[in-house]
Amino acid sequence: MSEQLGRILPEVSEESRAFWTGGFEGKLLIHHCASCDRWFHPPVGACFRCRSREVAPKAVSGRAKVAAYTVNHHPWLPAFPPPYVIAAVELDDEPDVRLTTCLVDCEVDRVEVGMPVEVVFNEQGDVALPFFRPVSA
Ligand SMILES: [Zn+2]
Repeated sequence: MSEQLGRILPEVSEESRAFWTGGFEGKLLIHHCASCDRWFHPPVGACFRCRSREVAPKAVSGRAKVAAYTVNHHPWLPAFPPPYVIAAVELDDEPDVRLTTCLVDCEVDRVEVGMPVEVVFNEQGDVALPFFRPVSA
């Protein structure tokens, strides 16, 4: 199995549950630190910046920009016939937070770094995977 795919398919833990299930309510929930007012990812029990434990999932806008991407030509996921785009996106609310995701509803050869995208949720059983699609002009 590919390294990239391993990062996309979730291992749901107590701390990451909100991230993987917020999409059922249309929310992209990222861990937020009440002490330094910053978001961080992946979700853990303490803020890596200030060590505060006043952390909890909080909704971000869902807007982001493509930071890096690769086109996948292998049929790893039955639901996603190749080619499709695996991307790292930077959240507009907190560019330090990068999510590895799939880009959907886009032409593979139109993708570029810096392209604005927005979250769209792909429900797969118990989780709603946060994928991203280009923001329509
Ligand atoms: Zn903090």
